[in-house]
Amino acid sequence: MSEKKRKLMIIGCGGVASVAIHKCCQNSEVFEELVLVSRTKKKCDDLAEKLTKKYGTKITTEQVDADHADQVEALIKKHGVDAVLNLALPYQDLTIMDACLAAGVDYIDTANYEPEDTDDPQWRSIYEARCKEKGFSAYFDYSWQWAYEDRFKEAGLTALLGTGFDPGVTSVFAAYAKKHYFDTIDTIDILDCNGGDHGYPFATNFNPEINLREVSAPGSYMEDGKWVEIPAMSIHREYDFEGVGKKDMYLLHHEEIEALGRNMPEVKRIRFFMTFGQSYLTHMKCLENVGMLSTTPVNFQGQQIVPIQFLKELLPDPASLGPRTVGKTNIGCIFTGKKDGKEKTLYIYNVCDHQECYKEVESQAISYTTGVPAMIGAMLVLTGQWKKPGVFTTDEFDPDPYMEALNKWGLPWKVDENPVLVP
Ligand code: NDP
Repeated sequence: MSEKKRKLMIIGCGGVASVAIHKCCQNSEVFEELVLVSRTKKKCDDLAEKLTKKYGTKITTEQVDADHADQVEALIKKHGVDAVLNLALPYQDLTIMDACLAAGVDYIDTANYEPEDTDDPQWRSIYEARCKEKGFSAYFDYSWQWAYEDRFKEAGLTALLGTGFDPGVTSVFAAYAKKHYFDTIDTIDILDCNGGDHGYPFATNFNPEINLREVSAPGSYMEDGKWVEIPAMSIHREYDFEGVGKKDMYLLHHEEIEALGRNMPEVKRIRFFMTFGQSYLTHMKCLENVGMLSTTPVNFQGQQIVPIQFLKELLPDPASLGPRTVGKTNIGCIFTGKKDGKEKTLYIYNVCDHQECYKEVESQAISYTTGVPAMIGAMLVLTGQWKKPGVFTTDEFDPDPYMEALNKWGLPWKVDENPVLVP
């Protein structure tokens, strides 16, 4: 790794950002200086004070509304940062990409763009055309960010999209399986199991608004290059996860299906499953039925409120779940395919313990499993190991340095060459 030290701007200071910031501070060989900017500056100040004492990293803080590209651009220029790690919300992806282009720095994020206002007529007409053309109806998709390809290429800048765990590590697992284990991959099943228990009847492990939008949407998977869409939660399987035990899991639409479907067109079927307890599903259905998941503003006592944003205020802050969450996560990909003419199966996965994460960085495992890969993605871009002009997902680079870094920075992975397959 090169000796040059670098300055990273991190936008957002929530659950995921807090872990990524801890990890950047631990990795002082690469990250000499951090600039933390977010909507609520106090969160940045509090974390900066704590971590400067603990690790000695130089940290500066600023307030920003990242919905405004000019504010972000001005801060990038003011602080002379080398790259921006966007850990705010997917709503800000495009404005932050614009700012990075204007200021001439690399861009990294963990979740693909979706609009805050899904009733915006201009966005809606594009969305409806896309639903018809592609065949899936999730609010988020890569088209908005892939449209920046030429601009990043011409500017000689890198945009690394979706370097969390899923998407992120799961796509690196796919690239790694392709490079080291298979001649051809036929199917990929991505499994996201959270066996953690926080003791609340209902809470989400990351931003409630983003989480509930994702989970309440119709499911979909890719088969022979085409999307197959199904009603939400209508495909259910039980699976026995190492470290967790038997869990119910449901097929969801997920970002990496779209990227892997484009970048590995030879794969015949790509599915994504996530585990949910019955209490979570019952609460979600009830909230959906009464309109609490709606993003359309309603008039309440003379004030416009967005139901799902109001719900977010009532639910436990995901960042506060750390001390009370016990149990493990098990997230990975099952591959089937061929090697040297023989059928082959493989599960590459990571098991992460909520309490171990809390001991290390005062966060639960969902924030941890996202924040660590966010730091790793930023590290690989900054050190030039994953630097090429254009817009990329994590399956489009050499997976080896990323896989090594996972082992080094707290998310060791395992390979099972004889996994139980998902029917
Ligand atoms: P949080 O809600 O905990 O944190 C979001 C942060 O962004 C908050 O600090 C918030 O500020 C800040 N923010 C929101 N809007 C703005 C704005 N306009 N300008 C500046 N800052 C803003 O979310 P999480 O940490 O749980 O999630 C962060 C990201 O990680 C999300 O995009 C999420 O989708 C993604 N994610 C990805 C996963 C993966 O595996 N790939 C898994 C989990 C999450 P304030 O403090 O004022 O609210």
